[in-house]
Amino acid sequence: MSQYIFVTGGVCSSLGKGLTAASIAMLLEHRGLKISMLKLDPYLNVDPGTMNPFQHGEVYVTDDGAETDLDLGHYYRFTSSPISKATNATSGQIYDTVIKKERRGDYLGKTVQVIPHITDEIKNRILAATCPDTDVTIVEIGGTVGDIESNPFMEAIRQFRYEHPGKCANVHLAYVPYLKAAGELKTKPAQHSVQLLRQIGIIPDVLICRCERPLSDSIKKKLSLFSNVPLDMVFDEPDVKHSIYEVPIELHEAKVDDAICRLLGLPTAQKDLSKWLSMVEALKNPKATIRVGIVGKYLKHKDAYKSVFEALYHAATAENHKLEIITIESDKDPEKAFAKCDGILVPGGFGDRGWEGQLAAAKHCRETHLPYFGICLGMQVLVVDFAREVLKLKDANSTEMDPKTPHPIISLLSEQKNVEDLGGTMRLGSYPCVLKTSSKAHTAYTEKLINERHRHRFEFNNAYKADAEKAGLSIAGTLENHNLCEIAENTTHPWMVGVQFHPEFKSKPTSPHPLFHHFIKATIAHAHSSH
Ligand code: GLN
Repeated sequence: MSQYIFVTGGVCSSLGKGLTAASIAMLLEHRGLKISMLKLDPYLNVDPGTMNPFQHGEVYVTDDGAETDLDLGHYYRFTSSPISKATNATSGQIYDTVIKKERRGDYLGKTVQVIPHITDEIKNRILAATCPDTDVTIVEIGGTVGDIESNPFMEAIRQFRYEHPGKCANVHLAYVPYLKAAGELKTKPAQHSVQLLRQIGIIPDVLICRCERPLSDSIKKKLSLFSNVPLDMVFDEPDVKHSIYEVPIELHEAKVDDAICRLLGLPTAQKDLSKWLSMVEALKNPKATIRVGIVGKYLKHKDAYKSVFEALYHAATAENHKLEIITIESDKDPEKAFAKCDGILVPGGFGDRGWEGQLAAAKHCRETHLPYFGICLGMQVLVVDFAREVLKLKDANSTEMDPKTPHPIISLLSEQKNVEDLGGTMRLGSYPCVLKTSSKAHTAYTEKLINERHRHRFEFNNAYKADAEKAGLSIAGTLENHNLCEIAENTTHPWMVGVQFHPEFKSKPTSPHPLFHHFIKATIAHAHSSH
């Protein structure tokens, strides 16, 4: 049976619990252990798919079509553990399951309650997240200890440990702030967060303290005494200097993975971290800088395009370049910023705010031969610009932006025509795509059949395909055995590629996604040719 590590957070949110959980997973995987991951989210939405990106940041899509929390992106990038709809459970899903069972009569005669019915369902989800042959399942509990809505999760993990003695470890991540006025690090908030956990019956085995400055031994001793966590299980996790990919290295140097292995009686043999280390070295020592503009409308939320940012960093690091991302708000005169960019990426999005600004980006790239990478909505932008300016179809548009356009070159997928509910009803998940040989995409993937993940309702309208192709817009990839357009490329441009899918979800720091890699190569080439 698998062992379990429960990761909780205290004091405040945004401490990087997801990153810490992913880093621990990565370190254990490097000891040859098989890891499963689970993120439990206390909110009542069934999934984050219906949430505004300003509220929640990116929606991470899995191969099996689940719209999930962005921490799953960290899990994917740091580990090779399987990521699927079983990897994320929300209170909304758990209540939905329990209420459906109640309506079916499964609890007939009983009063349905948070304990045991909701907590049982949470425990079921923990077991369901554990894949066959898993050595360690890491369960991250969203939110902060003390939140009313996370209580059922805390209670469930307390019960789980009671029912699986010797198989569980609690890792608590707390914050130790530095008070400038006092000139001191303050441990009280972290102590209180441990007290809150103890009130629920959870005693942390490992305490990891996020901090801006390293903790002295005397502060660690104090935390150990007040929180009942042995001194050799108290660690600090200071902010990293260059990149989140330093986190596992820092935790490894602090011997957090040794401590966890000791606790759970796991093998302590260490495998080679050199691939990861050399990636981190490369990102610390770039030979030049390139600037990529992202023209989007959710840029104020730093995590709204999380995977896109990370995928760009992976590719730039692989080319030994420092990446400067220029965030360009698509509804605020974006044109001013284009001249600063060595390449432009237009990411996914919904609705017409900022749409014309994104079209201006595609026009600029097309006319000046600046590399352009369009993702999902960004492919639709590439196509509509081409229709208006090259095919001379005045007012061509996507029917999402203008339902009455005379030239609907982007229109609703036929399977979407009768969809009424908004939650979980887009074209979601992984589909196979056949590439045209000699396309930019084929050069990048070096394969003819690829699989990529989707999240959209609109598509390229094939009524325009023949004219578009004649004029230089190649439909370079289509859904296998269908004519649905998945990739559009401008054949008269050095690198202008749009994809209807989301390649960013499948990029890893040690193996950048081929399309991002080739976009960055084109961007570097452009930067050199224009300087
Ligand atoms: N709004 C567009 C569609 O639904 C693009 C979606 C996206 O970028 N994820 O097709």
